[in-house]
Parts: sequence; C-alpha cells; structure tokens
Amino acid sequence: MDISHIINELGEDRSLYFNAVAPPIVQASNFVFDSFEDLRKAFEDEDSAYLYSRGKNPTIEILRKKLAALDGAEDALVFNSGASAIFASVLANVKSGDHIISVDKPYSWAWRMFDRMLPRFGVTTTYIDGTDIGNFRNALRPETAIIYMESPNSNTFELQDLQAVASLAKERGIITIVDNSYSSPLHQKPISLGIDMVLQSATKYLGGHSDTVAGVLTGKKDMLNKIFNEQLLNNGSIISPFNAWLILRGLRTLPVRLEHIGKTTEKVIAFLKSHPKIERVIFPFDSDFPQLELAKKQMTGACGLFTIVLKADSHHAIERFTYSLKHFLVAVSWGGHESLILPQAAGLAPEDFDPINERHRMARVYIGLEDADFLIRDFEQALAVL
Ligand SMILES: *Cc1c(COP(=O)(O)O)cnc(C)c1O
Repeated sequence: MDISHIINELGEDRSLYFNAVAPPIVQASNFVFDSFEDLRKAFEDEDSAYLYSRGKNPTIEILRKKLAALDGAEDALVFNSGASAIFASVLANVKSGDHIISVDKPYSWAWRMFDRMLPRFGVTTTYIDGTDIGNFRNALRPETAIIYMESPNSNTFELQDLQAVASLAKERGIITIVDNSYSSPLHQKPISLGIDMVLQSATKYLGGHSDTVAGVLTGKKDMLNKIFNEQLLNNGSIISPFNAWLILRGLRTLPVRLEHIGKTTEKVIAFLKSHPKIERVIFPFDSDFPQLELAKKQMTGACGLFTIVLKADSHHAIERFTYSLKHFLVAVSWGGHESLILPQAAGLAPEDFDPINERHRMARVYIGLEDADFLIRDFEQALAVL
C-alpha cells in the first residue's frame, strides 16, 4: 500500500461527516442502539461496534486503520501513552512463573515494570546485550514467554537482528515485542521481519509537535483482540478522541518531517564529528557505528536522535556548554519540531561526576525542524565556551 494513500486517505469516509475534509473529533462517551440484537452483539465483542469510548470510537478508528497499514500489521490499538502500550503488550502474554528476556537499557518505564512490578506476580526478567544473537539463545528457559526488544534504543542506539531473534522465538512459541519508537513505521517494519508485536510512543514522531502523549501497538488480529478485551478495556488505557485527532494530524506531515530532519541531522553530525571538543558521535547510520551493516539491512533511514560524547573535565563545564546553546531546549522526550539536548550530567550530582567515565560526558541531542545552519552556528558558539 502507498504511504501517501495510507496517510491521506485510508480509513476516511467524508460522506459520514458532512463531506468535511478533516475528520471530526467524535467527543462522545457512548453510542445509541436501535435494537436489542445490535446491542447484544456489541456486548459480545466491543471491538465490533461503537458502544462506549473506552473501547471503540470513530476518530480513534480512523487512526487505528492508518497505523496498522503503516506497520503492515493486521490491526493496531492506540493507547493513552507509549508506556501503556508497553504494559499491555507484556501483561497480556505472561502468567505467574513465566520468564522474560529483555535487552539491557530498555526504555526506563519498561525496566521499572520488569524490575519493580512483575516480580510481585512471579514473573522474572533476564537482561542481555542484544547486539549478539547468541545472548538471546543462552538466556532461553523452558518458561520464557516474551522476548522484549528496543531497536535501536534511544540513548546509545544498540540494535538487535530482528529477523534472527524472530526466528529463534518462533521455533519455541515465544512472543517477540519490539519498541520501534526511534525508527517509526517509515524507517523500520519489524512485522515484515517476523516480529509479533510492535509498539511505539506516538508522543514522539507520530504526534510530532510535543503536544500529545500517546502509544501504539500493532500485530496480529487475535493477539490484539485479546489485549483490547483485557488490558485496554480493563485498564481503561484508551487514547482520548481529541488526542487521537492530534496524532492523525501529525501523521499527515510525518514523511516530510522525517525527510527534513534526516537531512539536517546528517549535516549537524558532519559538523560535530569534525569538531575538536567532540570525542565521538553515536548514531546508527554513522560510518563509525559498530552495527552500521545491520542498521542498513533492517532500517531504511535514521532520524534526528543521536548522542555526543563531549571532551569536558567537569560537571560545571557541561552545564555551561548546555545553557550556552540558544536553540536547543533542555528537556526530555523528542520527536517534536524543536531541537533538544539532554546531557547525562544533568542527572548526576556534581560531586558524582567522573570525567573518566564516558557515560558522564554523553549528551543526547534531538534535531527538530529548524535549518541545519541555524543549529550548527549554535553548536559552534556553545562549543567555543566548553
Ligand atoms: C518516550 C518513549 C516511550 C514511552 O512513551 P510515552 O508516550 O512517553 O509513554 C517508550 N519507548 C521509547 C523508546 C520512548 O522514547
């Protein structure tokens, strides 16, 4: 299916809403039924009819169709956050006594769930370095139910060979889940590589304007129907119609935003790599990236998120550099229109800073929609202060 068709047309039927070009925000909690029979059918399967907006809603429905098609999946569910999508995908597929294999350094709220919540219900997690397929094989147990991945992760960008892990898991009936927030469906399609379920924080590239928190989960219809009926309806973690509408609006410009950001990022990285105050740049499509071949094999492009290692000898120097930048905001998250920087030192007390530790000198950079020269000039003057 053409991306242009999916983004601009799929799932939309203007005759249902006064021929309005933009779909409406159907801000209704409940829907009316004309017969007992229809109502009974809706009770039997809430995903078959509009009954109540904790389950199915027309605005959200348009978004679900587009997101499923973008991932090449049978179905999609949209949640009120990426964290909700993570939680639902895992909780639906474990029972007491089960074991999970997760890549090390997954998104922070994934490991909090694995480490702090699931052990209370008898579910344990083993973390592995996912850059080597052998580590997945060695961590397998008879009770392993899920392999949880994030490729690349959003700090140091390690990848997993998704096709190899999927085939290892399939032989054993283990469910594979990948956090695809970094690539978005435009740059990586894990389902086509054999992965069972794909999740994304729609807060990032899909929304694209730093004004909405949302999450997406895609996969086979039967797997998602189970999650719809258990996690989504029970936890009440559905997205609101208004936020679904904002994500729909963000989707319209996703391809042009990613293309622009991709080009800008390349220029900014080229500048940073040649700068004497920058020790190295970590970015999946950089010529020095250790997994470049794998990145090229399973991703069609990278985006605006990368990490720089600064040559700096103190906490203070990093803070001064950071706040010398005039056009990079110091904030978490990414994927919006605005460029951001998040140094690791920001999370450290000054007395704990160790210049020998490379991690302490790392700063994650996100390139937004500004022009490359505008951002490069900013780095130039701030690095001069460092
Ligand atoms: C932000 C993020 C999440 C969580 O999504 P929320 O929408 O913030 O709940 C999950 N994974 C990655 C890689 C993220 O960057």
